[in-house]
Amino acid sequence: MTTDKYAGSPPGPPLIDGFGRRVTYLRLSVTDRCDLRCAYCMSERPEFAPKAGVLSLEELESVARAFIARGVRKIRLTGGEPLARRNVMSLVEGLSQYLANGALDELTLTTNGTQLDRFVEALRHAGVRRINVSLDTLDRAKFAAIARRDAVDRVLAGIDAALKAGLAVKINTVALKDRNLDEIPTLIEWAHERGMELTLIEVMPLGEVGEDRSDQFAPLRDVESALKRRWTLEADDHRTGGPARYVRVKETGGRLGFITPLTANFCDGCNRVRVTCTGELFMCLGRQGRVDLKAALRTGGAPALNEALDLAMARKPLGHEFDAARPGAGAVSRFMSATGG
Ligand code: SAM
Ligand code: SF4
Repeated sequence: MTTDKYAGSPPGPPLIDGFGRRVTYLRLSVTDRCDLRCAYCMSERPEFAPKAGVLSLEELESVARAFIARGVRKIRLTGGEPLARRNVMSLVEGLSQYLANGALDELTLTTNGTQLDRFVEALRHAGVRRINVSLDTLDRAKFAAIARRDAVDRVLAGIDAALKAGLAVKINTVALKDRNLDEIPTLIEWAHERGMELTLIEVMPLGEVGEDRSDQFAPLRDVESALKRRWTLEADDHRTGGPARYVRVKETGGRLGFITPLTANFCDGCNRVRVTCTGELFMCLGRQGRVDLKAALRTGGAPALNEALDLAMARKPLGHEFDAARPGAGAVSRFMSATGG
C-alpha cells in the first residue's frame, strides 16, 4: 500500500475499540441545518451551530481522510440536510477519489430528498450508487404536519429522478404513533413496486423537540405484528453491519428493515462512529461521550487528529442506554440533526 492512496495521510493502524470492534463506517454530518423541521427531529426554531464553529468542506475532507487512512471503508454523508450545505458536491467529488483508488468501498448519503432531483446526476457521476431517502408519508397534508413544511411533491420528484438515473434508493420511515402507522402498508407497497427497500425506524429520544416522546413512540414490535396479519414476512439474512434486521415480504417480493434501538439492542456488532459538522466525534449515537476533532485538526493537524481517533477508540462505549419501557429514558440532549442520523 502506498501512502499516495490516502492523499498525504499515511495509513495507520485500524480503528479497534476496547471491546474488539473494528470501526469501518463513518457517518459524517456536513451541516446541522435543514429545510424541513420534522417534529421528531428538531423543534420549529432550532438553534443551529454558529457558522464559525462549523468545519469547512476542506476540513471535513481532512477528517474523512484521517478515517480512511485508519481503515474506514464506508462513508455516509448526513446532516441536517446534506444537500442543503453550500457546495457540498465539492466534498463529494473530493471523496470520490477514494472510491476510484479503492481506499473506500462506498460513499453514500442520507437525504430528505427535497433537492435531490438537481443533484442526482452529479452524485452518480461522483460514484454514489445508493442513497437513503427519508419519507414518513405519501400524503401531502400529513407530510406537512410531520415535517412542518409542504414538500412531499419535491421529495417524490427527487426519488423518481434518482431511480431514473439508476441509483438504488432505500426509503427510511420513522414509525410515528397516531401519525403514519395506518399508512405503513401503503408505503411498503409503494416502495416495493418501485424496487426500493424500506426500513422502519423507531423514534429515539434525541433532543428536546417540543413534543412528548411518548406521544411519538410506536414500538416496531407492534407494527411488525400488524404487518404479519396482512402479509407473510419471511426471514432474510441480509446484513449490512448496521442495526437493521430484515425480512422479505412474500406478497410484494421486496425487502423490509426494522431499526429498533429501543426494543432491541444492536450494539454488539457496532462498526460505526459519527462526526458532527462541528467536528465532534461521537462514539455512540445514544451517549454523550465525544472527542473534539476540530480542536485537534486546527491545532495539531493530521498527527493530532490521529491521536484523537485513538482516544475515541479507547472511549467507545459498549452500547446505548435507551429504554423501550420508558421512551424518554436514556434521552440524549443533542438532536439527531446535530449528530447525523
Ligand atoms: N435530513 C436527512 C434526512 O432526513 O434523511 C438526513 C439527516 S436525518 C437526521 C437522518 C435520519 O434520522 C432520518 O431518516 C430521520 O427520519 C431520522 N431521525 C431524525 N430524528 C430521529 C429520532 N429522534 N428518532 C429516530 N430517527 C430520527
Ligand atoms: Fe431535517 Fe432530516 Fe431532521 Fe427531517 S429528519 S428535520 S429532514 S434533518
